[in-house]
Amino acid sequence: MASNAACIFCKIIKGEIPSFKLFESDKVFAFLDIQPLSKGHALVVPKFHGEKLADIPDDQLSEILPIVKRVVKATDAVDYNILQNNGRIAHQEVDHVHFHIIPKPNKEEGLS
Ligand code: 5GP
Ligand code: ZN
Repeated sequence: MASNAACIFCKIIKGEIPSFKLFESDKVFAFLDIQPLSKGHALVVPKFHGEKLADIPDDQLSEILPIVKRVVKATDAVDYNILQNNGRIAHQEVDHVHFHIIPKPNKEEGLS
């Protein structure tokens, strides 16, 4: 399914819900997480609505990782986590595939 009217990330992609947008192309959208685990916590999503990674066509998915890399560089993070949850047991809350970029500042910067 290309888009799901009930999906919060599809609404963000369409601009129906505001977000702090970082990047947009015809297949990919990136924005800041509303409840950041660290400064710069971002989400990169395919515009194609799919619940889990295996639901996303390869031609959509192949455009994601280069954008994850660009967002990582934009954060200036030296250490960071890339996280992608699939299913409730795996802590997925929003059923639209997304990649978390979670910068891990060092202790001197006073953040987690
Ligand atoms: P999950 O647990 O599904 O891997 O992560 C979902 C993420 O989406 C959470 O980190 C949560 O803070 C973020 N999120 C949920 N709703 C919104 C929203 O309306 N706007 C933004 N920017 N992030 C959201
Ligand atoms: Zn969606």
